[in-house]
Amino acid sequence: MEKIELKGIQKSYGKEIAVRHLDLTVEPGAFLTILGPSGCGKTTTLRAIAGLEEPDAGEIMLGERTVFSRSEGIIIPPEHRNIGLIFQSYALWPHMTVERNITLALKAQKLSSSDMTSRLEHALEMVQLTPYRQRYPSELSGGQQQRVAVARLIALRSRFLLMDEPLSNLDAKLRTEMRAELKRLHRDLEATTVYVTHDQIEALTLSDIVVVMNDGLVMQEGAPYDIYHHPANMFVAEFIGDPRINIFRGSVIDQDGTKVLDCGDLKIPLPPDLDAKSEALIATVRPEDIHLSTEAREGWLKVALESIQPTGAQTILQVRSENTAMTLLQPGFIRMEIGEHIWVDVDHKAVNFFDPETEQNLINRS
Ligand code: ATP
Repeated sequence: MEKIELKGIQKSYGKEIAVRHLDLTVEPGAFLTILGPSGCGKTTTLRAIAGLEEPDAGEIMLGERTVFSRSEGIIIPPEHRNIGLIFQSYALWPHMTVERNITLALKAQKLSSSDMTSRLEHALEMVQLTPYRQRYPSELSGGQQQRVAVARLIALRSRFLLMDEPLSNLDAKLRTEMRAELKRLHRDLEATTVYVTHDQIEALTLSDIVVVMNDGLVMQEGAPYDIYHHPANMFVAEFIGDPRINIFRGSVIDQDGTKVLDCGDLKIPLPPDLDAKSEALIATVRPEDIHLSTEAREGWLKVALESIQPTGAQTILQVRSENTAMTLLQPGFIRMEIGEHIWVDVDHKAVNFFDPETEQNLINRS
């Protein structure tokens, strides 16, 4: 297994900077996902690794090999980078059978015909498409076409896998199945993988490391758990999570000797290690970190139910007190009447605090 390393990668299109001085290391065999909104520079980064895009500055290493260096004038073409690629459109040749689509990709490797056949058969078996080998892409469903693209990758035995929104053309159920399949594929092939998506569920479920990008810059790089629970800044806090994270703005006051953030009806105690420079702060709380009671409880906030959306396994509730609104996510299928009073309590351990000026997380958990 080998690592992928990007150093100081910069790419502009005219006046627009797509990627700004990006440093990135994908550890050998790791699954790293670049996540971010449309236009943040994800695809440009991936295409630069593949050799389909030439950065204006920086270096790219695949294992020990430098495949791109602006300063040394090294530009190895894509076909010599030993990379397996899957893009949003699976790029199957419409006039070729499944079998030909796979074997054509192996041509550059100059295998013997028996090696070629055994790679083809193994790949088709792995994606369960053996009975479909003589079909044309137009005779396959979207999911089956996607599996042909996966089979092609398996047959190639690349040490590096690059995938750009490979699941976005599939319906929701198939997407969940293919997600599991891609995860298995990555494990089986032991290939160092970079995956690009704007779908946070894909990023959180598939990855060892998630890199959140915005406007050509890395906003945070970390394990899915840290990205979700300890967002480095407000952008990551708001971008990750559905329903969206709750945001409370308030000012720090002294209440019976302890510092609390006064957000109107809601008072949130500050952790003792918080080094807040300003009086005003932003607190964020995930909807599942607010507890709910149908009976009054000491110290809990009384709110009225404004909307309720059971999704089956979970229920999304919107509630409001006199001057605070918030969203809750509760397990189970909850049935309640709009306007009903309930009591809520924020789990203090799950609160993140941000500086309103810099929008950076004030709690250093590293
Ligand atoms: P999406 O999720 O929509 O694919 P992305 O995060 O992958 O977005 P990129 O495709 O990397 O974004 O694009 C980054 C920026 O560079 C965008 O603002 C885009 O308009 C611009 N860009 C990308 N490719 C080109 C090009 N060939 N010519 C001009 N501008 C481009």
